[in-house]
Amino acid sequence: MSELADRYPNLHVSRHPLVAHKLAYLRNRTTDPKLFRELVRELTWLIGYEAMADVETTQITVETPLEPMTGARVEPKVGLIPVLRAGLGMVDAMLELMPSAEVWHIGLYRDERTLKPVEYYNKLPDAATVQVCLILDPMLATGGSSAATVDILKTWGAARIKQVSLIAAPEGVATLSGAHPDVDIHVGAVDRALNERGYIVPGLGDAGDRQFGTFAGPSSEPGHESGETAEVVRRLQRNISVGE
Ligand code: URA
Repeated sequence: MSELADRYPNLHVSRHPLVAHKLAYLRNRTTDPKLFRELVRELTWLIGYEAMADVETTQITVETPLEPMTGARVEPKVGLIPVLRAGLGMVDAMLELMPSAEVWHIGLYRDERTLKPVEYYNKLPDAATVQVCLILDPMLATGGSSAATVDILKTWGAARIKQVSLIAAPEGVATLSGAHPDVDIHVGAVDRALNERGYIVPGLGDAGDRQFGTFAGPSSEPGHESGETAEVVRRLQRNISVGE
């Protein structure tokens, strides 16, 4: 992990004990969807708070009941871009931290065989309306959807982009950092690897299914394998080992 952090200075892994504690509950296979959603929300507060630590503030005058004082106001307009569908569970938590943030939706789905992102929804206006964009995805797995989302946001004119995730795979960090080294990645933990089905291990399983209780879909069946998926994962792993 420290080798990964040395290689990617844009990677920020939380060291907060509360994050580690809540992640352990989140990962537990017996955690039901209600508790899972609550934990996603609480972890998003904690990691989102860390992700916002370096944004600019301006001084404002505040009249307290006793006297005037100089306070602070967060300057940049913030946009939240949840990666559908698992990122939806992180939106409310971020809006609680930053009620005036804008929420923009870009729909990309991951082709289950090639693991490549395919765009199916994009209603961004012509020019960027925010200065800081936070991409919200509980799992930074292959990094393909995030890198594609950053491509779209940069074309839109977003000045600063950050990725906020609960758990990352080294392969996802390498893919996103390789394509966009200027994007800060804030995560609760970096796990061992991706498995041959594109799941983060040890991970927590499918973050969408676990939030929304949809365990019957074909993508979440254990043993659902594709040679193509396994080959994509092997390629991502080779890329990391040669430092791409
Ligand atoms: N998406 C998930 O929900 N879980 C993983 O492990 C990888 C991608």
